[in-house]
Amino acid sequence: ERPSERADAPVALEFDGVTKRYGGTTAVDDLSLSVREGEFFTLVGPSGCGKTTTLRLIAGFERPTDGTLRFGGDDVTGVPPEDRDVGVVFQNYALFPHMTVGENVAYGLNFADPPNGLSSAERVRELLELVDLEGFEDREPENLSGGQKQRIAIARALAPGPEVLLLDEPMSALDAQLRERLRLQVKAIQRELGITTVYVTHDQEEALAISDRLAVMRAGAPEQVAPPRKIYRRPESRFVAEFVGDNNVFSGTVTAVEDSSGGPLATVDVGPECFTVAVDDADASVGEVVSFCVRPENLSVDERRRDDHGHLETNATTATVVGAEFLGEQTRVHLEWGGRELLVRTTDPLSGDVVLRFDPDGTHLIPDS
Ligand code: ATP
Repeated sequence: ERPSERADAPVALEFDGVTKRYGGTTAVDDLSLSVREGEFFTLVGPSGCGKTTTLRLIAGFERPTDGTLRFGGDDVTGVPPEDRDVGVVFQNYALFPHMTVGENVAYGLNFADPPNGLSSAERVRELLELVDLEGFEDREPENLSGGQKQRIAIARALAPGPEVLLLDEPMSALDAQLRERLRLQVKAIQRELGITTVYVTHDQEEALAISDRLAVMRAGAPEQVAPPRKIYRRPESRFVAEFVGDNNVFSGTVTAVEDSSGGPLATVDVGPECFTVAVDDADASVGEVVSFCVRPENLSVDERRRDDHGHLETNATTATVVGAEFLGEQTRVHLEWGGRELLVRTTDPLSGDVVLRFDPDGTHLIPDS
């Protein structure tokens, strides 16, 4: 299933003007947001932006100061956690060390009958199979890897067959390799069950990799809610453009707008140069100050200098290499241009003064900047 196929799926949970304050701190600020059935929805943003509080509001561990929270259209604002149909997985496994893996998973049933008329043992077996740990019933949690522990925590959260799965930074205690593996496993489990999932992370790469849609949060509210590709390619604010992946953001004044076969193009005086950028669905009028971004992969650098007349072509300028990080397949090169730092990715090493170029097609005018 692709997210677009889910665009008209029923709403599974909905925040309607929800605010959560702790004394003078507003952790969640007038949040309105819907998550659709079967969707993998991620809350991502810097530390303190309100991700965990939002998740705790869904779980019912916190009550909103204001606003309404609905599950499938029903108001659950005052419903206690045990009466909400959610499973929760935290960062630190929270498995019971004195219980076996099987007992830990069965504990998730919380004395309720397992779904589909299964016995408790059958349900545990089914869940361990789901998380790819069949036969682990009698193992002790302490002898397992971090990734395995976290899959057991997921099995436990899923034991009673909840409608919604909540995951709060479940991978942050793992090393990078384990994290990538678990990411794929979590995604596969979610797909197999088709369970509505809300995932919290501060890691933008993880958010892009795992989600159907994500909300980039800032100061208790989402700046943009969209599928990963749209967030990456069409950020609606400077904050989103800079938070999600490497990016080069320029600001300047529009000096001309003209039509071209590929859509309207704006000339933006960034000083010391003018650049031509695609307007897309943003608005740009002459005299307006705008920002636009160019991803490093859309900036090219080379030693080529000037055309026969000694001029640089459109959207070309000279910059100076100030640093480089070798990343394996590519090198991330830091350039200095007009007192600003820019990022590009190259396969060849570079040094000194270089020519920097980009296509208007590879630019994006940020509507809200
Ligand atoms: P992190 O990634 O660091 O966990 P977060 O985005 O999950 O951050 P929250 O934990 O939701 O952010 O916190 C949002 C704001 O609310 C922060 O300023 C935090 O200090 C504050 N806050 C959260 N919980 C409480 C609490 N129980 N009492 C007082 N303030 C709180």
